[in-house]
Amino acid sequence: MIDYQQALLKVLAHVQPLPRKRVKLEDAAGYALAQKISARDDLPLFDRSAMDGFAIRRADVGGATAKAPVKLTLIGTIYTGERNRPRVKPGTAVKIMTGAAVPDGADTVVKKEHCAESDSQVAVKKAVTMGENIRRRGGEFEKGTAILPLGVRITPPVVGLLATCGYARVFVYPKPKISLVVTGNELVPPGQRLRRGQIYDANSYALAAALLEFGIAASSIVWLKDDKSILKRGLARALRSSDMIIASGGVSVGDRDYVKDIFEELGVETVFWRVAVKPGKPTYFGIYRPAAGKKHSHKLVFGLPGNPVSVLVTFRQYVKPALRRLMGVPNDQRIFLPATLQQPLRKKTPRLEWVRGVLSVRRGKLVVVPTTGQESHMLGGLARANCLIEFPRRETSLDKNSTVNVELLNWGE
Ligand code: AMP
Ligand code: MG
Repeated sequence: MIDYQQALLKVLAHVQPLPRKRVKLEDAAGYALAQKISARDDLPLFDRSAMDGFAIRRADVGGATAKAPVKLTLIGTIYTGERNRPRVKPGTAVKIMTGAAVPDGADTVVKKEHCAESDSQVAVKKAVTMGENIRRRGGEFEKGTAILPLGVRITPPVVGLLATCGYARVFVYPKPKISLVVTGNELVPPGQRLRRGQIYDANSYALAAALLEFGIAASSIVWLKDDKSILKRGLARALRSSDMIIASGGVSVGDRDYVKDIFEELGVETVFWRVAVKPGKPTYFGIYRPAAGKKHSHKLVFGLPGNPVSVLVTFRQYVKPALRRLMGVPNDQRIFLPATLQQPLRKKTPRLEWVRGVLSVRRGKLVVVPTTGQESHMLGGLARANCLIEFPRRETSLDKNSTVNVELLNWGE
């Protein structure tokens, strides 16, 4: 059985970002940049005041103190957005607002708090350094400077920065069309009454929510019975209409676990099936190449195990890295933290285990406690967890106080 790293590399090797498209800035949040951003002009474009105060010539106020203030003649006021710039000559000052253009002749701004204004004069009560309180033209970025590289996720500050730099439209990598398929005769949507043998369908809801956290609305969500011809029709339709299929259930070794076989009958090439991990051993991944002439080279096909914890953990460990790459976001942002394990862990089978845990800071150090309810059907444990603890494949026990790697469960990243 292959291990997780091999499986993940196999997934990523089959993922290509979708062809880029251009969107309006107001629609750009959540996408990744499919273009480099550089400064189209100097930023700021003109010298701006960083304070409410007075624009002056530094040489005029050299020795100013509270006891011996320097008096200057006020020759005007400049507000933000205004263009008229009364020239500051020796012995004069212009009142100025934060963000307004510094008038010609002035080289420094004195804060209002260090001045006393009266009629047509201002008394400067404190010496200032040359250029103080001026945001220089090009001080943040000079024209042509690289600002953001390809693949940056468009977060609120990125949207703000793009606007600041004058970008009304940007190229992004489109979000994939994703079909969610849940399988299982036993499944009933919440809201209906359960008969004996039935359970509520958790996975279509949980997977749809996991996609939404990533900014993607599933393009279709279907429930299919464990019946070969129903599965064949339903999975064929999903393959036709989407860039990615995420199926849950029916990929293990039960008598009615038909999903893998049906995918293969439909022409999906199996890349791997079964990985030495827990939860999520019977994970399936394949690719589907539609008939020649179609726009995209191939579609990604995930068959995730049906247990609700397995489905979300495998979504996170395989589907999300694939989604990130599809959407052009680099995958190098996974951050593992070293934490002190607060309870011993044991296992029998040589599989990498993702133990659900709660990470916190105790006396300045990261500590992690495994949640109760570690079985694959026990969503309560995952619901309370904020991280996954890595229990390496070759280890059989981890002692209390040993250092473990944990990964935060940030569903939106
Ligand atoms: P399977 O992979 O189809 O053998 O399913 C494994 C376990 O997960 C079984 O106990 C199923 O009843 C359960 N299961 C499968 N699909 C779902 C679902 N959508 N919601 C909740 N539990 C499910
Ligand atoms: Mg099933």
